[in-house]
Amino acid sequence: MSTPRALIIGGSIAGMFAAHLLRAIGWRVDVFERSAEDLAGRGAGLGSHEALVAILRRIGIDMSAPLGVAIPRYVWLDEQGGVVADVPRPRMMTAWSRLYRPLKDALPPGLYHPAKSLARVEQDARGVTAIFADGTRATGDLLVGADGVRSAVRGQFLPDAKPEYAGYFAWRALHAEADATPAQRELLYARNAFCIPDGELWVSYPVPARDGDVTPGKRDYNIVWYRPADEAALAAMNTDASGRQHEQIPPPLIRRDVIDAAKQAARAEIAPSLAEIFGATPRPTFQAIYDLAAPQLVFGRAVIMGDAAFVARPHVGAGVTKAALDAACLADALRDHESIEAALAHYGATRKAAGDWIISRAREFGAICIHGETARPAERRQRAERAWAEYLTMPDRIHEWGKQALAAE
Ligand SMILES: Cc1cc2nc3c(=O)[nH]c(=O)nc-3n(C[C@H](O)[C@H](O)[C@H](O)COP(=O)(O)OP(=O)(O)OC[C@H]3O[C@@H](n4cnc5c(N)ncnc54)[C@H](O)[C@@H]3O)c2cc1C
Repeated sequence: MSTPRALIIGGSIAGMFAAHLLRAIGWRVDVFERSAEDLAGRGAGLGSHEALVAILRRIGIDMSAPLGVAIPRYVWLDEQGGVVADVPRPRMMTAWSRLYRPLKDALPPGLYHPAKSLARVEQDARGVTAIFADGTRATGDLLVGADGVRSAVRGQFLPDAKPEYAGYFAWRALHAEADATPAQRELLYARNAFCIPDGELWVSYPVPARDGDVTPGKRDYNIVWYRPADEAALAAMNTDASGRQHEQIPPPLIRRDVIDAAKQAARAEIAPSLAEIFGATPRPTFQAIYDLAAPQLVFGRAVIMGDAAFVARPHVGAGVTKAALDAACLADALRDHESIEAALAHYGATRKAAGDWIISRAREFGAICIHGETARPAERRQRAERAWAEYLTMPDRIHEWGKQALAAE
C-alpha cells in the first residue's frame, strides 16, 4: 500500500495532535484550517495533566522549559475576602500559546493550509474527499474532523447531535502580573483561588504570559467566572451595539454596558481582591458553556475528535488533554490494526467511552454549584463545601482517567 494520507479538518489543538501523531506512524497529513489568522494568538489559561505532557514528549516537543506556572496551594475565599480554606495542592497551569505554538512550529512547512473551510465530505471505494467552500477538493484515506464544537464534519453525519446550552456562561479575563499590587501577588500568584457566591463559581490562577514566559513579574492572571443565565439573557448579552445578535459574540463586539454590569456584579459578589483584578481588566470576554456528546465518532473513513466529538464543561480542565488522547488513540489503533476499518472501530468505541465519562463528571460538578435558584444559607454552604471538595480532588481523578487511557493504548 502506498503511504496513506489523512485530511485533517481544523488546525487547532486536536488537529495539531492528530497531524503529529499520524505523521509519527508514517502517514502523510494535510491540515485544513478555516481561519486565516495565527491561532497561537487565542489566549487563555489551561489546566494541564500528566497524559498531556506524555503525549507532547512523544511528539518530540522540547519540554525542558517549564510547561506553565507551578502553583503550590488552593485557596477558597468568601465573598467578603475572608479565607475559608488554604491548603497545599500543587498544580501546573499552562497557557494556550505555550501548547499551541510549539506544536504548530514543529509541523513541517506546507502541511498547514489556512483559510480552507470544509463544506462537505464525500466517500467512495477509493477513499474520502474533502470539498472546501472555495470549490477545491482533497482526497485521502482518512478524514479527521478536528473542527471544534460547531463541527461541519459532525453536522453532515450527525445533524441532530448539537451542543446543548448548560444554562450558564463564563466570563474570562487575563490580567498582567506587572499591573498587580504586591498584596495581590502575594495572595494570588501562589494559589488557585476559588470563590462561590450563591449559584455561581469563580476560579482564577496565574498562567504563563502570552509568549510563554513564566518569569515572576511577567506572568498573567487567568479568571474564569461562571454565572447562570437563561437563553433570553444570554441572547441579550450576545447582541452587539448595532443590535445584531450573534450565536457567540466576537470579543471586540461585547457591549461596554455588558462589561460594566459584570464588573459591578463582581464588586458586589466576589472577594474584593479578585473583583479588583477583574475590574482592572479592560476587556473581559464571555463564552456560553455547552455539553456535547456525539453518539458515534466514526462514519466510514471519516472520524471526529476533540471538541467536535465531546465537549465537557471546563470544570474538569481536560479539553486539551482529551483532544491529545483522542489523537493518540487514533494513531495507535492505525499502527496496531491490520485494516483501517478495524482501527477506526477500536478508536470509536474506546474514545466514546472516555468522552461519556468526562462529560458526566463535568455535568455533575456544574450542577453542584452553578444554578439559577436562590438557595437557603445552610444549603448554600453545603453546596459550596461539596464544590470545594470536588475541586480539590478533580485533578487527581482526571490524571487517573488520562493515565488509564494511555495505558490502554
Ligand atoms: C471557559 C473555558 C475554559 C477551558 N479551560 C480548559 C482547561 O483548563 N484545560 C483544557 O484542557 N481545556 C480547557 N478548555 C477546553 C479547550 O479549550 C478545548 O477543549 C480545546 O480548544 C478543543 O480543541 P479542538 O481542536 O477540538 O477544537 P477548537 O479549539 O475549537 O478548534 C477547532 C478548529 O477547527 C476550525 N474549523 C471549524 N470549522 C471548520 C471548517 N468547516 N473547516 C476548517 N476548519 C474549521 C476552527 O477555526 C478551529 O480552529 C476550556 C474551554 C472553555 C470554554
